Amino acid sequence: MMDFDLFVIGGGSAGVRCARIAAGHGAKVGIAESRFWGGTCVNVGCVPKKFMVMAAEYGAMAEDARGFGWDIAKTGYDWTRLIAAKDKEISRLNGIYIRLLEQAGAKIFEARASFIDAHTLDVGGERITAEKIVIATGGHPTGINIPGAEHAIISDDIFVMKDLPKRVAVVGGGYIAVEFAGVFAGLGVETHLVYRQPLPLRGFDEDLRLCLANELAANNVILHPDCVPKSIALENGQKSLALSDLSVLDVDVVFFATGRAANTKGLSLAAAGVETGVADEVKINADFTTSVPHIYALGDVTDRLNLTPVATAEGHALADTLFGNRARGVSLENVPTAVFSIPPIATVGITEAEAARRPDGAKIFLTRFTPMRHAISGRKRQTVMKLIVDAKTDKVIGAHMLGEDAPEIMQGLAVAIITGATKADFDRTIGIHPTAAEEFVTLRTQTRVVGPETGPV
Ligand code: FAD
Ligand code: NDP
Repeated sequence: MMDFDLFVIGGGSAGVRCARIAAGHGAKVGIAESRFWGGTCVNVGCVPKKFMVMAAEYGAMAEDARGFGWDIAKTGYDWTRLIAAKDKEISRLNGIYIRLLEQAGAKIFEARASFIDAHTLDVGGERITAEKIVIATGGHPTGINIPGAEHAIISDDIFVMKDLPKRVAVVGGGYIAVEFAGVFAGLGVETHLVYRQPLPLRGFDEDLRLCLANELAANNVILHPDCVPKSIALENGQKSLALSDLSVLDVDVVFFATGRAANTKGLSLAAAGVETGVADEVKINADFTTSVPHIYALGDVTDRLNLTPVATAEGHALADTLFGNRARGVSLENVPTAVFSIPPIATVGITEAEAARRPDGAKIFLTRFTPMRHAISGRKRQTVMKLIVDAKTDKVIGAHMLGEDAPEIMQGLAVAIITGATKADFDRTIGIHPTAAEEFVTLRTQTRVVGPETGPV
């Protein structure tokens, strides 16, 4: 007899969902969390990040209100008040996670777990056996290896920072870098964004990347494209960040937003025979099994598509498969995603560059406009919306937007795209007026056609 039917290592988005649903299906479930219930998303990710983006947006809104007749004086910004409010909300969420697990009947362990063998775990010094084990240990931020790297901070540090710095250099051009560049600049911090590509957000649609660079610059982010950091020197608390273009940025904080790596160290995976890949990630099959058939891995630790809704979907699917008589996987095709830059980006499906490589080619519908609000606020801000349509089937295979409310709009478009909607279906849908979203159903003029014969985009 084993102690548990299922033991889950990691109480983040993937682990909590899996444990809760499996326990609800009647399995005897244990779950260990070593740091914070809810994991990265709740404690040092999506949730506190979004509060910070919202905080930054209020500053611009107070200015924009002027054109509408308001006189709102901005007399200062109190970072400590935001952190206190954020901490209060997060402890409420931590409590909800614990309650949900307990109500479902899972036994919780506030401890670090590691493998002793393929069925046995060391959970905070206690020896525990389980029929099936789930590894859902997430990931951690990685910095870059340059002289003086120890003077830089990573995203986890931002959420506990005591004071708002006056000058920040953000290194990286991915999700976290552009989101926090917007946060800092919006809160009045002198903000530098240092990235090694010509444009931020490699892999996103080029029209959005270009527009994002313009918007970041318009929002006072000082851009350093095609640049890598060389070293950080510390003098009187100030950091001097030397760049490959030979310039030196004198700042209070250097923030490495240069990617994340799977949390597999210290798990003793070898003791259980679980194989990892080149980036230390746990390798899995389509049914979430690792190299050991009764050990599974979910979420960021597998380093596939590192997003919260993917992690929770995987946790739910595995619990249903193992204990709910409902075997299913999770498709990573057409997963919508948003970058909470200011203004935000949201996207689903393929980019124009990807479409151009398809044998049938694609029709591109593109619009750029000044959002209605800014006709009066006077703020120079652009919205870009784009549809990519399969030239042969007329199916919409990509939707991309940079502009206010883009993430809220894209969720609905993702449903249409996943169900195979054609451009004709979009065209016969009546718009909601006056909105930016209605542009997605009134895009009548084709901007261009791309395909193998048109060459790379
Ligand atoms: P995690 O949430 O990281 O959970 C893993 C848990 O395992 C952790 O709590 C950890 O403490 C615990 N653990 C690790 N090792 C052990 C052990 N040996 N024993 C016991 N417990 C252990 N995604 C979005 O979809 N939208 C966003 O807006 C978004 N914003 C983000 C912003 C930031 C700054 C970051 C860093 C990430 C963001 N993400 C966002 C990504 C999202 O947070 C992750 O994809 C998601 O949290 C992954 O869930 P997980 O369960 O796989 O891992
Ligand atoms: P990303 O992988 O998105 O971006 C990393 C950035 O760092 C890239 O611009 C990369 O450049 C750059 N970089 C990497 N190594 C170096 C180096 N040695 N020197 C200079 N630049 C370097 O990672 P993030 O840390 O931004 O975020 C991690 C993941 O978390 C995301 O990929 C996403 O899955 C998730 N996340 C999701 C969010 C959301 O849904 N809104 C928000 C935040 C995070 P290059 O492009 O050239 O490789």
